[in-house]
Amino acid sequence: MIKKLLQRVFSKKDKSAKHETAKQNGRANKPADTNKNAGHSAKRIASKTHGIDRRLLSNAAVKTTEGLQKAGFEAYIVGGAVRDLLLKKRPKDFDVATDATPEQVNRVFRRSRIIGRRFRLVHVMFGDETIEVSTFRGSHLGESDENQVADSGRILRDNVFGNQEEDAVRRDFTANALYYDPATEDVLDFHNGVPDIQAGILKMIGDPVTRYREDPVRMLRAIRLSAKLGLKIDGATESPIPKLATLLNDVPPSRLFDEMLKLFLSGHAIESVIQLRKHGLHHGLLPLLDVVLEQPIGAKFVNLALKNTDARVLAEKPVSPGFFFATLLWHEVLVAWQRYQKQGNRPIPALHMAMTEVSDIQAEKLAIHKRYSTTMKEIWGLQPRFEMRVGKRPFGLLEHPRYRAAYDFLLLRCESGEVPMELGEWWTKFAESHADERLTLLKNLPAGNQTESKPRRRRRRKPPSQ
Ligand code: ATP
Ligand code: MG
Repeated sequence: MIKKLLQRVFSKKDKSAKHETAKQNGRANKPADTNKNAGHSAKRIASKTHGIDRRLLSNAAVKTTEGLQKAGFEAYIVGGAVRDLLLKKRPKDFDVATDATPEQVNRVFRRSRIIGRRFRLVHVMFGDETIEVSTFRGSHLGESDENQVADSGRILRDNVFGNQEEDAVRRDFTANALYYDPATEDVLDFHNGVPDIQAGILKMIGDPVTRYREDPVRMLRAIRLSAKLGLKIDGATESPIPKLATLLNDVPPSRLFDEMLKLFLSGHAIESVIQLRKHGLHHGLLPLLDVVLEQPIGAKFVNLALKNTDARVLAEKPVSPGFFFATLLWHEVLVAWQRYQKQGNRPIPALHMAMTEVSDIQAEKLAIHKRYSTTMKEIWGLQPRFEMRVGKRPFGLLEHPRYRAAYDFLLLRCESGEVPMELGEWWTKFAESHADERLTLLKNLPAGNQTESKPRRRRRRKPPSQ
């Protein structure tokens, strides 16, 4: 209590001293001179009103704001973290916004580094936590070489420093434009974000159409944040989305991938996919998803996979993006696999042709990082081997580094009705048994279940017909 009181008293009294230090730190030659406006249009909301629980704060974030403030700068916890704190959720990461330039931030913290070439940020490290510190950004509408806007209205570059008020206006939703000062425990609210959060509403700052044109990814963010936080998207924020969905075609596939990964690994993947479809956004992202969801087994499989992922995320268990994308695209692979076999290709080469085809179509829209697509293909490629229950083959499969992921994948296939339950149950027993029991399990397979040795048999080549 006493500490808080002292902090409050000093944070007010100290202003002039801080400004002196700030000047010494070189602040005079940068954007912060415009900072005289800071906080002017903001509502200052005290701790007893907003009720943020300090126990949910990260130590590293508090040390970062303290360090910057001691050096004479302004510093706040900002964005999603404040929103989550107001919703009584523990934020998964903390961002800090300041009037210090990246170089100045870098000088304050020994363990920090400047990252990004265009949009420069500083990573400040405390133990194994990293806090992302960004300098207040200015309006993209100002005349400057640092900012570029495409004909469509999409912002190509947005890297001009500004004051806190400008920084708030360029954020996406009112709930994301809040600044929390751990020293005073006040929240600065520039766009009515606190009442919106309390009313359970996600609302775009400014004109939604213009803001989506500036950055179409904001449409995906609206869906993701509303699904994750249980916030309702405000009418005017929601209504333009279906009409503007095609704007996503202009977004670089790698950025879409990052955003989709966040969406799918949010712990609310099912709800997010439902919402993406409802708003017509999935066409540009997972072009084949509609087709999959129209087939009963496909829909069941994808839903099981999404449910499974959500449960793992919520239980804080690790989730493999490679596995996840393998499930989303599997039914495409199945269709293509059958087609290639009908065209006369043997099962294994046909499967590999199908895998390549599906990944290539997908990559045009949303580039799955290579490290994930490799896992995805390994999981697919191992599936036929589960059916080869003869000789040494099952023992080899157990030793494969991707066995566990491939087995989990097999269980989903069983549960969705694509392959018999017996197959998954057999593998569960086989993996859990001792060596001699494994041999018995292999011997006791019902007749017809060893057909899987087929791919091993070499066919005699027909003499070329002339
Ligand atoms: P999450 O809980 O997923 O981290 P978040 O809102 O914190 O959600 P971040 O990507 O961490 O998402 O972004 C941090 C903050 O940066 C946001 O709260 C928002 O203020 C701002 N921001 C992020 N992306 C955009 C965008 N596309 N347009 C405008 N502001 C953005
Ligand atoms: Mg965040």
